[in-house]
Amino acid sequence: MPYSDSDTKERFARLPALLLPWFAQNARALPWRRDREPYHIWVSEIMLQQTRVEAVRGYYERFLQAFPTVRELAEAPEETLLKLWEGLGYYSRARNLQKAAKIIVNQYGGVFPRDYAAVRALPGIGDYTAGAICSICFEKPTAAVDGNVLRIAARIAEKRDPIDLPAVKKSVAESLQAVYPKGHCGAFTQSLMELGACVCMPKVTKCDVCPVREICQSFAHGTQATLPQKLPKREKRVEPRTVFLLECDGAYAINRRESKGLLAGLWQFPNTAGQLSPSDALQAAEALGAEPIELLREIHKVHIFTHIRWEMVGYHIRCREKSGIFLWATPEELQSTYALPTAFRIFLENGV
Ligand code: SF4
Repeated sequence: MPYSDSDTKERFARLPALLLPWFAQNARALPWRRDREPYHIWVSEIMLQQTRVEAVRGYYERFLQAFPTVRELAEAPEETLLKLWEGLGYYSRARNLQKAAKIIVNQYGGVFPRDYAAVRALPGIGDYTAGAICSICFEKPTAAVDGNVLRIAARIAEKRDPIDLPAVKKSVAESLQAVYPKGHCGAFTQSLMELGACVCMPKVTKCDVCPVREICQSFAHGTQATLPQKLPKREKRVEPRTVFLLECDGAYAINRRESKGLLAGLWQFPNTAGQLSPSDALQAAEALGAEPIELLREIHKVHIFTHIRWEMVGYHIRCREKSGIFLWATPEELQSTYALPTAFRIFLENGV
């Protein structure tokens, strides 16, 4: 295993003594660090997956205002939940939060389980999140290994094994787990996160102020910029699409996406695969059940998902009637009531 050699183990063993005093002095005041309530830590960790801290702050506060307890989250209407999540992306995270909340209410009487295996078994919770919750909330020596921690580990130990390999993650987790300091597990997890977020960042390394530089092999050899190594990136699949911005008396046609697949079950402007010409788009709108009168505008947008790039042309089309196969919403209602994912919301920026 790449991180199980004695040199790496010795370096990792010194991490708690170097990181904990630094963290006590330098921890950022973040809303989810006010307490160690498992519900709060869980929500913040799920929101922080794939999303920047600054973007999460507002969402986190609004979410807990709407659902102050796990029970309220379990009982929330899905529409309200998705509306609160709008713009954060990866909507399955919100659905899994609610699924897990229902399990916590029904199987654990509303009390967050303390056992690692039980936490890990909840929907939407992987090794990293389970490790973070159990160490931060319950002081268990459970490492939380994400991209930040893998990057720090690769630099300290100066290892070139690609960090996206499961065996590398497992090895880092095992070696870190062995050095978790009793009574300070939560602070240790958070200090590693903080180091990755503020000091040992992907493109910037502030080695001159880094609390662990005396054990860092990359610092000693000047190899920081070449680590960590990753597997080659998968090319994004380009999908051209046509989006119909059908308007009638100031309201726009929306419908729900299918219950499976990308953006499952969310609201959307009607759309179809391929980029249609204006005349084909008018015909296609009619085939969808609309009654187009005139084409007002053509708008081009790009939206990037993890593995897919949507290259979209949107046609703003005035319609004669509000066809009953769509739901018609005013721009105000689109803002306040319906969870419209960013891929479609970006058309509203153009005054649609
Ligand atoms: S010394 Fe530099 S490369 Fe090493 S862990 Fe610190 S910031 Fe990262």
